[in-house]
Formats: sequence, structure tokens, C-alpha cells
Amino acid sequence: VSSIATLGQMYKDGLLKAAAKENVKRSVNKALLERVSLFRGDIVKLEVDSIVNAANKSLLGGGGVDGAIHAAAGPKLVAECRQLNGCETGQSKITRGYNLPSAHVIHTVGPVYGLPDIETKAAQLSSCYKTSLQLAVENSLKHIAFPCISTGIYGYPIEDATHIALKTVRDFIESEEGSKLERVIFVIWTPRDKGVYETLLPEYFPPA
Ligand code: ADP
Repeated sequence: VSSIATLGQMYKDGLLKAAAKENVKRSVNKALLERVSLFRGDIVKLEVDSIVNAANKSLLGGGGVDGAIHAAAGPKLVAECRQLNGCETGQSKITRGYNLPSAHVIHTVGPVYGLPDIETKAAQLSSCYKTSLQLAVENSLKHIAFPCISTGIYGYPIEDATHIALKTVRDFIESEEGSKLERVIFVIWTPRDKGVYETLLPEYFPPA
């Protein structure tokens, strides 16, 4: 009799434990989901602590989102960038935002996509997201808004790039280091990118 009672108790304990685990998982997912958002529009309009610029190694401005950010920030941005002596692929540097509504710009240099060595490109793209997130935390910034790094002129396929972006952000905001970041915004510029993000976001940030 006693062994049946013990088994019954163990079964109940097991169920309780599983339910508790499920609740913890749900609350973690909910909390994570509340810390990311999609914004469809021009990154230069965002009034946040920091926006990320998909820059080139010179950090002196270029086309695409880089051109838009420099145009909106005004000439003081390029003047500060000149002091930084460029930036390596996969690395990031921070400046003020000047005439932008965003207080800071985090300049990151994405890889130019192409063969050979796709794995290196993937690691560099992930590093762009990670080093930008780290800079935000080091500077006590609460928000960071990312464009789709490398997926324009640099030619990174949007699906692959989005998996890397979402995985890197998720890993970071779940970590102790990233716990102080309140919000990460993925900025979508083209209708094609919107569809990709809407499909993949729930894979990495499932609704509770
Ligand atoms: P890269 O050289 O890293 O590919 P691009 O500027 O060409 O950089 O493109 C990066 C991404 O930024 C692309 O998805 C592009 O559609 C997007 N983009 C371009 N202009 C803007 C803007 N004003 N706001 C937000 N995203 C933008």
C-alpha cells in the first residue's frame, strides 16, 4: 500500500513540477516578447536612446540607411565619426545623434555577402548585433533600434540575415548582460522584409 501511495505522490509531484516549469517558460516568453518590437518606417524618425547604422568601414557615410542617418543627423555626425578611425567588419562604435531624435547612433559594419566562407559572414553579422547590443548596455541605454544590417547594398539574403538577427538578440536579452535592455526594435523598410520578420519573429519570441 505504502509503495502505491508513494508512486501516486511522485506522479502528483511530477505533474506539479511540469506545470511549474511550463508557467516559468510562459512568463519568460511573455517578458521577452514585451522587450522586442517591429517598426515599419524610417529609422531616422525614431525617438529612442539609440539607432544602429549599417555603416561601412570608413564610418564616413554612404548610401542606403547610412546616407539617410547622416543626412538627418547633420554634419556634426561625420565630424565625430572622423575621430573614430574607421571600424572593422563585425565591430561597432558609438556616437551622439546630433539632429536626430535618437540620442545616439551605434555604427556597425556588416559583412558584404558572397562566397566563399558564408560561415565567416554569418559570424560577422551576428557580431554586428552583439557588439551593438553590448555598446548600448555599456552606455546605460534602454532602447536600441536595428535596421536589417547587410541586407541592402551588401546583399545578405534576408531570411538568413533575419534568423541571425533574431537569434543573436534573443540570446543577448535573455543573458545577465542584456537584462537591463528594455526594448529592441527591428526596423523594417521594405514590404519583403516585413513578411520575413512577421513570419520569423514568433519562432524566436513565441507568444506566451
Ligand atoms: P548594407 O550596406 O548594410 O546592406 P543598406 O543601407 O543598403 O546597408 O541596407 C540595410 C537595410 O536598411 C536594408 O534592409 C534597407 O532596406 C534598409 N533601409 C534603407 N533605408 C532605410 C531607412 N531610412 N530606415 C530604415 N531602414 C532603411
